Amino acid sequence: MALSARLRANDGPRGGPQDRSWIRLTPGQLEARARVLAKLDDGTYALESAPCFCGEPASDLEIAGRDRYGLPVRTVLCPSCGLMRSDPRMDADSTARFYQDDYRDLYTGPGNGDALFASQVSRGRGLVKLLEKLLPTIDTVYEIGCGAGGLLLPFAEQGKRVAGVDLGDEYLEFGRAQGLSLVHGSADDLLAQAGEPADLVLLLHVLEHYLDLSEGIEQTLRLVRPGGLLLIEVPGIASIATGYRGDLLSYLQNAHNFHFTAATLEFVLRRCGLDVLASSESALALCQRPQVANDTANPPKPNAAAEVLRTLADLERAFCERAARERARQ
Ligand SMILES: [Zn+2]
Repeated sequence: MALSARLRANDGPRGGPQDRSWIRLTPGQLEARARVLAKLDDGTYALESAPCFCGEPASDLEIAGRDRYGLPVRTVLCPSCGLMRSDPRMDADSTARFYQDDYRDLYTGPGNGDALFASQVSRGRGLVKLLEKLLPTIDTVYEIGCGAGGLLLPFAEQGKRVAGVDLGDEYLEFGRAQGLSLVHGSADDLLAQAGEPADLVLLLHVLEHYLDLSEGIEQTLRLVRPGGLLLIEVPGIASIATGYRGDLLSYLQNAHNFHFTAATLEFVLRRCGLDVLASSESALALCQRPQVANDTANPPKPNAAAEVLRTLADLERAFCERAARERARQ
């Protein structure tokens, strides 16, 4: 396929060694990258194959062979449903060790609780505004993957009962010191502690990290009461144009196992039994857990894969043309 060949080429517009990184890395990130490469090499981090969520035994289209760090990450597009995913990807045990030992160093370096909390509070204020009309129907709000929990503060200020949970404990103390109820562990741990499901659950930039979408959403839904709401946000393929300088290879990152458009996100959520009330390409989706379980046998949107391919090909052409113009100016 032309796109894959161009992204993988050694001597094409994307020239240079295969393992180069496509974003600027600090010395600490370079060290972490070398560690991860060595662990992938000696099998400390084991890979496993990952069939598509839709269950169709399709011949996937290869999109890229590496990620923004130059790590070997094979990204494929399912021609049946248009969902893009990593295949193979790290197995569950390796993924857990990766998050424990290397994720923070590779992705962000040492954290700053104050800055994180402030940006979360600001995002939370935006969400309160977005959900303004629904707020009177909401008493409890939970967040999965809450970090310092700042996102929950504006909801608490609106009189809502809030709680958050995160697998990492780096920022939980920071949020607790601000009076927030934050649990270390999984969605089930939060449910055990809180005792009852919530009216609204926030799942922001978490879904794309899951190894298994059905399992992850099922676990999430245990936190949402029947008739309750789930707000999901993922980076979205459309964000490559706005947030990643139009560069697919700067966007791909080994911790993200799935890449969505509004259409493929909706497909996944509907097939997991949710009603999708609204969605956008950014990609944000507001869903409702139905009172009575839905029929989940809905088909993917026709042409979803062709639309993704066209978007990626257009982005790549524009990126390479821009790079060529910049080279010509130098
Ligand atoms: Zn599929």
